Amino acid sequence: MRTVDFLVIGAGILGLSIARELKRRLPDAAITVLEKEAEAGRHSSGRNSGVLHSGLYYPPGSLKARLCRQGAAEMAAFHEEHGLPLKRCGKILTPAAPRFADEMAIIAERAAQNGVKAKILDERALRELEPETRSATGSALWVPDTAVGAPLAAIRALARDVRAQGVELLFNSELADISPQRRQAIPRNGDAIHFAYAINAAGLHADRVAHRFGAARRYALLPFKGLYWKLNPDAGIRLNHLVYPVPDLRILYLGVHTTTAVDGAIYLGPTAAPAWGRENYLGLRGIAPAELPRIARHLARMFISDQDGFRAQAWQEGRRYFKRWFFPAAQSLLPRLEPRHLLPAAKVGLHPRIFDREKGELLKDFLLEHSENAIHLLGATSPAWTSAFPLARHLCDQIPFFDRGEPA
Ligand SMILES: Cc1cc2nc3c(=O)[nH]c(=O)nc-3n(C[C@H](O)[C@H](O)[C@H](O)COP(=O)(O)OP(=O)(O)OC[C@H]3O[C@@H](n4cnc5c(N)ncnc54)[C@H](O)[C@@H]3O)c2cc1C
Repeated sequence: MRTVDFLVIGAGILGLSIARELKRRLPDAAITVLEKEAEAGRHSSGRNSGVLHSGLYYPPGSLKARLCRQGAAEMAAFHEEHGLPLKRCGKILTPAAPRFADEMAIIAERAAQNGVKAKILDERALRELEPETRSATGSALWVPDTAVGAPLAAIRALARDVRAQGVELLFNSELADISPQRRQAIPRNGDAIHFAYAINAAGLHADRVAHRFGAARRYALLPFKGLYWKLNPDAGIRLNHLVYPVPDLRILYLGVHTTTAVDGAIYLGPTAAPAWGRENYLGLRGIAPAELPRIARHLARMFISDQDGFRAQAWQEGRRYFKRWFFPAAQSLLPRLEPRHLLPAAKVGLHPRIFDREKGELLKDFLLEHSENAIHLLGATSPAWTSAFPLARHLCDQIPFFDRGEPA
């Protein structure tokens, strides 16, 4: 059996950012990252929209609001240092119906409180900046600092960096068993590892890993599927910005929007429809029969309580699995869009939303839970990619022996 100071579970953007931060603080520490897949970024970190969010939506004081703006600056700098493509295109939020005027005012106010640059545009200014979109109220919000990066290229570069700094990355090494008291982890295809401290950054599996440590029992994951369509370049629709709807703030979801990827391809999506397994990316694949009753029970509970506008979300997003129902949302952003302009896209991700069994609601912020000799990151949904570097610092600040000044 070998011994390490830190065992990180999951080589997504967060696991790797945490490993990098630990190495910065303790250059001599032995750090191992366990990853069940053959490479980094097979799940959310390699399947997201790649938007470096500016941080305007989140309630002031929340971790999301505190970390997003700083994270975007650091992720942009990381792209530049590593010669990765980055588009500083900005974004525009347009209300799809007059009732969204109030939501837009709230978002503009939050932007001001969170220190995010945002400007209200009148109809003429909107036409000049982004002629392909429209506003149902005659005004829109322009957020100049939003950018788009390259998530897969970024995570690969980060994996190379941490490896070069001496972090051990063990791929094809799912954490199969754990003995928290003996501080011993057993990877599926390898020898037991003894650790001083463990960090759980297992994304879509973080609740299960935490439960194995005896932590976070009141929380359980609910997966939501993010499907995209690709805009046919022959549509002749050119965009200067990312175009987002003003979201329904009752629902924990930003709405179908456009993302212009760094290669110029324009995607529309993602959706946020309930999924039937943690890795249920395609059709029936990844449906987890053993988890279906639990998922159905939690969804039913939210539907009955209508917590966070869940009935509206379930009805709206469930139908968006089908092009016929997805199309109106996309067309409300781009009025010239026709159904034939939407091409199927291979891109699909799963949002790891965390259900709080005690409160019967979904977590809205990132959550850190402690157990003996371990810390668990739950609910790392958007904008966790943007916020990864400061979120890793924030997590390391909570590790008890950094208070004591030395590893246990
Ligand atoms: C459709 C979609 C669009 C998004 N768009 C954006 C965006 O534009 N901007 C933004 O900031 N955020 C966005 N996000 C959110 C962002 O992608 C995630 O918040 C972020 O990638 C989470 O990173 P992570 O490291 O926690 O998780 P992951 O990337 O899922 O990494 C966790 C890793 O843990 C591994 N693992 C799990 N269990 C085990 C185990 N038992 N043993 C070993 N390894 C294990 C997994 O294989 C995985 O590689 C989006 C998310 C989705 C789904």
